[in-house]
Amino acid sequence: MRSSLYSLLLTLCLSTAAFAQKTLLLRPARVFDGEAMHESWSVRVKNDRIDAVGPAASLAPAATDSVINLPGATLLPGLIEGHSHLLLHPYNETPWDDQVLREARSMRVARATVHTQKTLRAGFTTVRDLGTEGADYDDVGLKQAIDKGVIPGPRMIVATRALIATGSYAPKGFSPDIDVPQGAEEADGHDRLIQAVRRQIGKGADVIKVYADYRWGLMGEAKPTFTLDELKTIVEVAKSSGRGVVAHAGSVEGMRRAILAGCETLEHGDAGTPEIFALMKQHGTALCPTVAAGDAIAQYRGWKRGTPEPTRLKEKRETVKQALAAGVTICAGGDVGVFPHGDNARELELMVDYGMTPVAVLRSATSVNADVFHLADRGRIRAGLLADMVVVTGDPTRQISDIRRVVLVIKGGAVVK
Ligand SMILES: [Zn+2]
Repeated sequence: MRSSLYSLLLTLCLSTAAFAQKTLLLRPARVFDGEAMHESWSVRVKNDRIDAVGPAASLAPAATDSVINLPGATLLPGLIEGHSHLLLHPYNETPWDDQVLREARSMRVARATVHTQKTLRAGFTTVRDLGTEGADYDDVGLKQAIDKGVIPGPRMIVATRALIATGSYAPKGFSPDIDVPQGAEEADGHDRLIQAVRRQIGKGADVIKVYADYRWGLMGEAKPTFTLDELKTIVEVAKSSGRGVVAHAGSVEGMRRAILAGCETLEHGDAGTPEIFALMKQHGTALCPTVAAGDAIAQYRGWKRGTPEPTRLKEKRETVKQALAAGVTICAGGDVGVFPHGDNARELELMVDYGMTPVAVLRSATSVNADVFHLADRGRIRAGLLADMVVVTGDPTRQISDIRRVVLVIKGGAVVK
């Protein structure tokens, strides 16, 4: 009995030792390390981490357990989606209101398990998922299911329900005599906001999302919701737990308050001005312009690519230009869910179309997003970091759409595609 137990333990130790030395050498044509391109570099992976990276000649294939040759291909850090809604699906399939009010939560989660797989297979190994839009804390369970290996998917940073000022969000337009369930959590004032932030954190929020403005003016335009003091309270409570705050902000005043309150990223920023972007630069606030969402919605409303752009898109191009001119840090996040999951590359292509260089866009989707989201263990190809990587055919620094030509996805050292 004792000896068989001993031999079992020995076997376990041996297999652990064998696992501990499992190395994989990847030999692409070039490596984008999160900041710059390096021709003829290779990457060695040991278990779930990057073990070594450098000129191919410096990494001997003989010393590794397995070698994957990837001629003509580019290896990059696993891409980071900065703004997703895994619990939503495209609005041209089902309008947002109907997803929130008519779809069973079980249905939404079932869809989300497919979305996570499509996202990962597209080379996005991390997502910052910014609100369940009426599906309460289902992002927390989704994240746990991925982390436990129940379903394939990216690493998730979750916002849970998100915070809205009473009466400001949606679905709206119903009889004032009925209370319609909302797509986020209503909370106002010092005490109730403190409670709501703490409750969301307690239930699993990695980041707090707040709607600093929303379409609730008389003419349906975006107007500020929370006061500056309320936003400061949210930031203070989140920050004391080590978490950042993300603000949905499209109006000048909503953006101004969110910046001054200490929000780390502003989402959308549609009505930004040179003055507002200068303020963002001054406070180190990053912008996640979500250009693909606006582009998708314009198409759902009948606009066809290749025909003159609607005013809204023309204005968006202008504000993105102003943000770039002001030197604002730009995150990559498309608001995917408005358009199909797995098509995350659409944002990267449009960022180039809106005036960024492919290299700058790839930095945004890797090292910049990692820095802004406080993910020190990923976003770069560097020894010691998580072995999250994507390999594509071609060179996306020359042609951004090559980012779609995914041949290999590695998450935590395991080949997942
Ligand atoms: Zn969003």
